[in-house]
Amino acid sequence: MTTMSYISTRGGSAPMGFQQAVMTGLAEDGGLLVPCSLPDVRDRLEVWRSLAYPDLAYEVLRLFTDLPDADLRALVDRSYRVFRVPEVVPVVPVGKVHVVELFHGPTLAFKDIALQFLSNCFEYILERENGELNILGATSGDTGSAAIHGVRGRERIRIFIMHPKGRVSPLQERQMTSVLDDNVFNLAVEGTFDDCQSIMKSLFEDVPFKQTHSLGAINSVNSARVLAQIVYFFYAGLRVLEQTGASRVRFSVPTGNFGDILAGYYAARMGLPVGKLILATNENDILTRFFTTGVYAKGTVVPTISPSMDIQVASNFERYLFDRVGRNPEMLRAMMADFKVSGRLSVPVGEGGEVDPLFFAGTGTTRDTLDTIRHTYRESGYLLDPHTAVGVSVASRCFRDDEPMLCLATAHPAKFNQAIEDALGEDLAHHPILDQLKEAETRCDCLPADVDAVRAYVQEHCTP
Ligand SMILES: *Cc1c(COP(=O)(O)O)cnc(C)c1O
Repeated sequence: MTTMSYISTRGGSAPMGFQQAVMTGLAEDGGLLVPCSLPDVRDRLEVWRSLAYPDLAYEVLRLFTDLPDADLRALVDRSYRVFRVPEVVPVVPVGKVHVVELFHGPTLAFKDIALQFLSNCFEYILERENGELNILGATSGDTGSAAIHGVRGRERIRIFIMHPKGRVSPLQERQMTSVLDDNVFNLAVEGTFDDCQSIMKSLFEDVPFKQTHSLGAINSVNSARVLAQIVYFFYAGLRVLEQTGASRVRFSVPTGNFGDILAGYYAARMGLPVGKLILATNENDILTRFFTTGVYAKGTVVPTISPSMDIQVASNFERYLFDRVGRNPEMLRAMMADFKVSGRLSVPVGEGGEVDPLFFAGTGTTRDTLDTIRHTYRESGYLLDPHTAVGVSVASRCFRDDEPMLCLATAHPAKFNQAIEDALGEDLAHHPILDQLKEAETRCDCLPADVDAVRAYVQEHCTP
């Protein structure tokens, strides 16, 4: 247990402890909560090298949380017991890279790692406060499903997840609607993902409604999610350092909302010897443009075969920017206000035009992605999901002999089997969990794309 406090990037909220930060999500001043400082762990790395995943998770998270040690230990164990492999996060050599398999959780995507932990935190805090929580979310795929699997069956929590009817992949829809627990409500909204998001936004802005019904979010900006993700950078990085005898490693991270790679940036700042963070985007390249030019400018979203990265405004980026402006909330507020109006902000670049020497950024196009899936399969017999393939593709542009390359694998290939089929001409990716879904019973209610209809639905179902 520590006394780590969390502050808002926009400077408008009093410092708070971890548990309060988890329940708060987005800060009231519109900023994101960040740890007030990052611990230097260099003198612990020697010991951390040999720890199993849950043991390391406990050691890392202890530095950031105000939970009694025994309680944190139990939360961590409960979160990672549900993973299907004992290593939790296996690291597999594939050709010239080390693939860090983050997809062995219940929904076969890396978001399980953070959402299992966040759900357990919610339950723990609610029990102690004798509270209830009604989670409302909108999803276009992976997040909703990982959140539903995180909180299913929990007594003090109900979850309402809207998805645009008929517009998420049939597999992703089934991963959500086949969860039949009483506390899970899947809502197929007759509209687009944007409609779902704007309904969610209206309901969160309805303060009396939000308060009366203890409405909460499973925001991608929740501090607990970022912290849980720091763990696997240490776990995989230390393992590969040990195996190879190298003194530094590189990580390639397929990026959308800047959540995953932010955790890598924090790990590096805490003292993990990271030579480069490779930030890989698909054609939705706002972050690549930023790290190559210093200008962060909104584009239009184009749909790709790595849909979980089809994002043009990266919600976690503000945390990086906060550090970038010397943790000066006034300056950050001014930049964000500007961005809101103009859709553009910029930072000064270094002499050689370098934005940040820690980062190497690049775009993997659809073509690069399919080529990478094909090459990797032909050369190593290993199937990459399209998100991971974007990362591997960009990583191949900056290999360095003395720094092993770790590529984060964010989803199991069977989740995106159409891309595998496009790349290889055959549908080679399967997973028993997904195969079983075809016969699973499902439950889902259909609603018009209308705030009042969704409000009435939540009202009716949120009291036990
Ligand atoms: C969410 C997601 C990503 C992007 O992660 P961010 O934290 O948003 O950068 C990449 N791949 C998969 C499979 C995902 O679900």
